[in-house]
Amino acid sequence: FAPWDDPDQQPLIRFQNVTKRFGEFVAIDDLTLDIFEREFFALLGPSGCGKTTMMRMLAGFESISEGRIELSGKDIGHVPPNKRAVNMMFQSYALFPHLSVWDNIAFGLRRDRKSKEEIDSRVTEMLKLTRLEKFARRKPHQISGGQRQRVALARSLAKAPKLLLLDEPLGALDKKLRQDTQFELMDIQESTGTTFVIVTHDQEEAMTVASRVAVMDEGRVIQVATPANIYEYPNSVYVADFIGDVNIIDAKARPMGENTYALDWIDGQPPLRAESKTGFSEGQQAHLAIRPEKIRITKEKPEDAPNALEGKVLDIAYLGNLSTYHVQLPGGQVIKAQTANTRRIARRDITWEDPVWVSWSATAGVLLEH
Ligand code: ATP
Repeated sequence: FAPWDDPDQQPLIRFQNVTKRFGEFVAIDDLTLDIFEREFFALLGPSGCGKTTMMRMLAGFESISEGRIELSGKDIGHVPPNKRAVNMMFQSYALFPHLSVWDNIAFGLRRDRKSKEEIDSRVTEMLKLTRLEKFARRKPHQISGGQRQRVALARSLAKAPKLLLLDEPLGALDKKLRQDTQFELMDIQESTGTTFVIVTHDQEEAMTVASRVAVMDEGRVIQVATPANIYEYPNSVYVADFIGDVNIIDAKARPMGENTYALDWIDGQPPLRAESKTGFSEGQQAHLAIRPEKIRITKEKPEDAPNALEGKVLDIAYLGNLSTYHVQLPGGQVIKAQTANTRRIARRDITWEDPVWVSWSATAGVLLEH
C-alpha cells in the first residue's frame, strides 16, 4: 500500500494552494501537492516551469505569495532556512576548495557546535555511506568529478535532514557516470531513509530514480504518478509527449459499447478502435496516444488486428537494441514504430520505401481529451 494511496497517511510536505509571484509574473500557480516520507520525488518540466522556485520555497530561500507549505503538518512559511530540517544540494556542489573532504563534510556539524565525538562518528559514517573513506584527507581538486559529487552528498546528509533537495545533482557528470551514480543515489536514499526531492531535465533520470514524478508546465503540476503510470497512463497530450516518444492521432470519438470507441480520423479510412475508461461523447474530439513500441510493423496485412493501416517506410534508425521506423500513413501523417532487435540483424526484410502494415490493439493506446 503506497503512502500516496493511503488517505490516513500524513504527508511530510504539503503544498497547499501555493502561488508565487515575481512582480506581475506568476511562477507558481495555485499549486497543491503532497510528498511523503522516504519518497524519492522528481520534479520534471521544461525550463522556466517553476521547479527551482518550488525547491527554493521549500528550503526557505524564497517567500510564498499565497497559500502555505507544511513540513510534518507544521506551516513553515516563517521558519528561517537554517531552522528547517531541510537541506539543499546545488549543482555546483559549492565545496570549500581549501578544506579536505573530511572538513567539508564536518563543516555544518562544527558550525552547529556538535561535540568532537559526534562529529567524528557522523563524518566517518558519511564517508562510509558514500564510499569516500580513502579520500578523507584530499582536497576537492585532488578527486574526480564523481567523487566531488559524493562529497557534496555526504555533506548534505551529515546533519541528517528530513528532506534533501537536489537541484540537477548529476548535471556535471558524463552520461555513463551519471547512470551509475543514479543507482548509488537510490541506494543512499534508501539506506538513510531521507526524503529526496530532485529536479532534473533528464526524463530518463527522473524515471530511473523516482518513486513518483510530478510533470510541470508554467507553474502548475499537470500530473503526479509513479514512473510506470506516467508512462502508461498519461493524463494529457502534454505529459504523453514530455515523457518518452509518442504518436498522437487526432480523431472524433463514437461510443460503441462499454469503454469502447470507434475513432473517425480521416475521411475515407475505416475508423480506428480504442478502449478507454475515460468517457467520451458522440463526436467529441479525442487524441489517441500510442507509444512506438506498442505498434507492430509487418510486410503482410495482419489478420484480426483491430487497427491496421497500410503505409510506406520513410526511414529506419538502427539503435542497436531497437530499431525505429518512420511510416507514412494514408493522409500523410507519419507514425513511429519501434521494435526490439532480439535477433542478430533484425527486420532485414523491411527496408526503405517498402509498403508495410502498422497495427496495434484496441488497448495499446490511451484516449486523451487534451
Ligand atoms: P530551469 O529548468 O531552467 O532551471 P525552472 O523550472 O527551475 O527552470 P524557475 O527557476 O523556478 O524555473 O523559474 C520559474 C519562472 O520564474 C521563470 O520564468 C523565471 O524567469 C522566473 N523567476 C525565477 N526567479 C525569479 C526572480 N527572482 N525574479 C523574477 N522572475 C523569476
